[in-house]
Amino acid sequence: MSLTVEPSLTSGSAASAADPVVAHPSPLVDARAQLAAAIELLGYDEGTHAMLATSRREMTVSIPLRHDDGRIEVLTGHRVQHNISRGPAKGGLRYAPNVDLDEVRALAMWMTWKCALLDVPYGGAKGGVAVDPRALSTPELERVTRRYTSEILPIIGPQQDIPAPDIGTDEQTMAWIMDTFSVARGHTVPGVVTGKPLSLGGSLGRPSATSRGVVHVADAALRSVGIAPAGATAAVQGFGKVGRGAAQFLAEAGARVVAVSDQYGAVYASTGLDIPALADHVDRTGTVVGFGAGVSGGSGADELDPAALLTLEVDLLVPAAVEGVLNGGNAADVRAKVIVEGANGPTTGEADRILTDAGVLVVPDILANAGGVLVSYFEWVQANQAYRWGAQEVEDRLAARMSEAWMNVADHARRHDLTLRTAATALAVQRVAEAHKLRGLYP
Ligand code: GLU
Repeated sequence: MSLTVEPSLTSGSAASAADPVVAHPSPLVDARAQLAAAIELLGYDEGTHAMLATSRREMTVSIPLRHDDGRIEVLTGHRVQHNISRGPAKGGLRYAPNVDLDEVRALAMWMTWKCALLDVPYGGAKGGVAVDPRALSTPELERVTRRYTSEILPIIGPQQDIPAPDIGTDEQTMAWIMDTFSVARGHTVPGVVTGKPLSLGGSLGRPSATSRGVVHVADAALRSVGIAPAGATAAVQGFGKVGRGAAQFLAEAGARVVAVSDQYGAVYASTGLDIPALADHVDRTGTVVGFGAGVSGGSGADELDPAALLTLEVDLLVPAAVEGVLNGGNAADVRAKVIVEGANGPTTGEADRILTDAGVLVVPDILANAGGVLVSYFEWVQANQAYRWGAQEVEDRLAARMSEAWMNVADHARRHDLTLRTAATALAVQRVAEAHKLRGLYP
């Protein structure tokens, strides 16, 4: 186990860390390039840039896992706290085979901007364990989660750092984390995680919050370019925690969801997919694949190459899976008019430039998918109050805060002739930098 408090970068190394021209693009390169653009716009000095480009605290741990067959495998996990100037660190925990420290650093940095943009009193963090959760049994997953939690125990807590679900983790994972933390403390600590099961103090509306936020923002973004959301065509990449709800709420709002994909394949119907029927199919089979005519009683859907989903001629494209799916290799072929980033970091820097030049409106992740952490914040507030809010109250507050954030970003972008991403990042960075400045540098 190693606990690293990174020393401040010199201004020179921060500048080179932020250089977007590299041979192998990565989420961290993209995140640092976005920060660099905001810093330049805001006219901040290199010292401020270096502080914001660097994680505040990083912990890498070994997780020895005893498999059900007795074999021992040592996994690697990380928890990165990018910034804590505005409050406790906050962000999800990801279980995926290719998770590495740089990816977690990027995701933690995006959490800082997301929380600042939504004006919730948190910094940003992220966790990751390099493991394929689908290859583990439930008892194995529980052992991984409890061991990871006990390793990072010194740096998490309701006032320190509050994990939540992300790719490959869910409310059961959060229940195990809460239990492990609580056993160590000797009393129940509901505020140490969000995204918990309802019966353990989870919030009504948390499971659907990211998707609802995506659809609120998509509605506003479509209207801003003169497209009526009811009747708009949409394609959704990913049918997990974010994509599934987004497809459902878009369809409920009257949009025609013509294509949906998951990691196994994609389905397409020009007249619009029957999303409730597709959801039933996924519950039965575990994938969207096979939701075609004849297979599910004639749904009217065709199989589609999942890569082709990203270049369909649609009004709205919602990438709601992983990083880097819109990149130099396909951005020029994108024909969507509006892209709303349900995933974190789905658009590389290169793709972002190509899409902007082509006049595609890209609503950045830190705004588009912020509904999740926003309702996480509501869950934490409810835990602190020991009082449950009603579903409508959660939904109304979510809608109000998302629309306020959209208006701030859209207005800032218009007034300063910026992309939505640069406007959103600049607004967020400004808030974090102001907190830094007011608190002062210790010692
Ligand atoms: N994993 C989600 C995100 O990337 C939610 C994080 C949270 O609720 O803390 O925004």
